[in-house]
Formats: sequence, C-alpha cells, structure tokens
Amino acid sequence: MTEWKTRTKLIHAGARRSQYGEMSEAIFLTQGFVYDSAEQAEARFIETGPDEFIYARYGNPTVRMFEERMAAIEGTEDAFATASGMAAVNGALTAMLKAGDHVVAARALFGSCLYVLEILGRFGVEVTLVDGTDLDQWRAAVRAGTKAVFLESVSNPTLEVIDVRSVAEIAHAVGATVIVDNVFATPTYSKAVALGADVVVYSATKHIDGSGRCLGGIVCASKHYIRKVLEPYLKHTGAALSPFNAWVMLKGLETLDLRVRQQADSALQIARALKGHEKLARVVFPGLKDHAQHAIAMEQMGSGGTVVTLEVRDGQAGAFRFLNALEIVLISNNLGDAKSIITHPATTTHQRLPAEQKALLGITPGLVRLSVGLEDPEDLIGDLTRALGAV
Ligand SMILES: *Cc1c(COP(=O)(O)O)cnc(C)c1O
Repeated sequence: MTEWKTRTKLIHAGARRSQYGEMSEAIFLTQGFVYDSAEQAEARFIETGPDEFIYARYGNPTVRMFEERMAAIEGTEDAFATASGMAAVNGALTAMLKAGDHVVAARALFGSCLYVLEILGRFGVEVTLVDGTDLDQWRAAVRAGTKAVFLESVSNPTLEVIDVRSVAEIAHAVGATVIVDNVFATPTYSKAVALGADVVVYSATKHIDGSGRCLGGIVCASKHYIRKVLEPYLKHTGAALSPFNAWVMLKGLETLDLRVRQQADSALQIARALKGHEKLARVVFPGLKDHAQHAIAMEQMGSGGTVVTLEVRDGQAGAFRFLNALEIVLISNNLGDAKSIITHPATTTHQRLPAEQKALLGITPGLVRLSVGLEDPEDLIGDLTRALGAV
C-alpha cells in the first residue's frame, strides 16, 4: 500500500471489510463494543490491538478507516480524526504544550486558529507571532525553548504561501515540532511531510467532504505523536469524529482528486479572467506569476489551489454590492465545496479581530475570498464579471 500513488490510496487505503465483504465502507454506528469475557475487556484496556475497539470516543472501525486512509495519503505513520478542523488544530497544539513552553506561529491565520493561540496564552504558553513569509522573522523568534511552530501553508484568506521547507529547517534546529494546517493545500497538492512538517492538520469539513455536509478534522503524524501525545488528550477531552461523518469523509476522499484538480483549474481561469478588471484593486492567487510566493507555491503544491482572493474597489460598500449581485456564487463562509462560495472576511470569519490587526494581516474592507466550486468555469466568470459591473 505504501507504494501506491495518492489517487489509488484515496480509493483503497485503510479499507476494512466485515465478514459480509461489503463493497462500500460500512458505517459502524456504535458507541461501544462487546467483549467475550471480563478477561478480554481487561486485556483490551491494557493494550488495544489493531482490530480492537473500546469506545467510539477512543476509536471506531469507520473512523479508523478514515484515519488510516489519511495517514497513507499524507505519508505519516498514523492519524487521529476529530469532530472538526478546530478540534484538530486545538488538539495538535494543546496535547503537546504546557505552561512555560514557547510557540512561534505565522500571524496570518484563520480567526479560530488565532483564538486557540490566545487560549494557550491564558494557560501560560508564550506565543510569538511572525510574518510567516519572512524567514528572518522565524529565525529571530525561534529559540531553545520553542516547542512548536504553527502555520497555515497557505493562509486564510490572504493566500500567503509559507516556505514550509525553510521554516521546518529553522524549527528543527532547536528541536521544535512543525505543525502545518494544510487546508488550502488540500491532500491532492500536499507535500507537507516531504517538506519537513511533523504534524499535518486538516479541516475535513472543506475539500475532503467537498459537498458541505459534515464537520470533521484529522491530525496526521508519527505513531509516537499520535498514540502517546495526541490520543491521550483527545480521547479524554472528547472531540471524537462521529462514525457517520467519518463515512462521509471516506466517500469524499474517493472523488477528492478529481474535484480539487477541476476546482484549481477553474480558479486559475477565473484569476486570469478577472486580473486587471477595473473594479478590482487586486487579484490574489498563488497560481498567478505576480503572486509574491508564486515560485514557492509551484514548488510545494504544483498548483495555485482552489481559492482566489479579490480586493474590490470602494471598500466594504463595493464588496457588499459585488456579493449581493452574484447569482451563482453563494454568500457563505465554508470553502472547498462543490458550490462556489464567497466570503467577506472583515465582517464574518475575521470580524472579531481589532482593526489594526486586520490591517496588518491585509484583511481590508474590500477583500473577498472566493472558493471556486465545480460549476462550469465560464458560467462562474460570467457571474463574477456581471456582478462586478454592479460595484
Ligand atoms: C476551516 C478551517 C479550519 C477550521 O475547520 P472546522 O472544520 O471549521 O473546524 C482551520 N483552519 C483553516 C485554514 C480552515 O480553513
């Protein structure tokens, strides 16, 4: 299985079949498991074998299939699934940190990721935020007591691409664990482990589900990190993925590669078509040559991804007129969906941030984030350009 290419792993890795030989992965919708004897129950609590389960908060056969498939795709020894992407981010960080530890993180993060860092600060973890695209800032911030570095390989929503290989080298020089939130790279374009990431985190809610149905998350890492560091924290604090949601994610993975490649192709077409539009101050897309980290994006993803960020002229008023004039593209805050979705981060996902922090992160009043779906790209370009006419 380790020799299989990603597209084969997406379909087959981690599959378990019951005595019925079912073709489609079974949903084991059960919280608990029955033991043959009291002795067997005791033995299982001492050591749980690979095909043995105790309680769905600890593990479940359907969830295990999703975990093993994701570990195979990312190239890690193991993985642990969570109830949401944020449970994965929170678990990956909190499970390994204690008061007095130091964390360095890129400042351009999803609003909830920033909030998790704030919580860690409340519990005595020192957090230093840096401009993730500036390697000198990483070098200056990392020190002997740095336990972890945390970054989004492509930042939400400003699409800064972080040089994972160089940041990992800087972090590993002081023995820090490199935790990468890889949502925007998607498993299709992820090379995070090869670039030096120790822990790769996804919100499965996004491209892995791909149809906007279920919340889910996953942490992929070494067997030691998953079983000795993360699992004890997660199984006792309760952010377990539901077996039904794990099944939806398994089905999502089967079509992930086709979807993501089409979405990325459409995103590039849209970025090119909108570039230079008179109502737009900026088109930000890592797949365009003028993107500040275009070369890094091509090296570490081989694609610009599925999200295009636009800066509409005339600030929030212009952005709102644009959003309200769209007919196909829906106003919402998810991404990676088959349906194209547009978000105004300054008033929604990043509303909570103070104005200075928004400005520092480039989340301007005119900024909108477009998650490109699976509609015909010509229809999308038509809808976007027509709506820009209303600005
Ligand atoms: C959506 C998102 C998350 C959170 O995932 P949920 O499944 O919504 O909890 C974390 N990081 C990034 C980059 C995201 O886009």
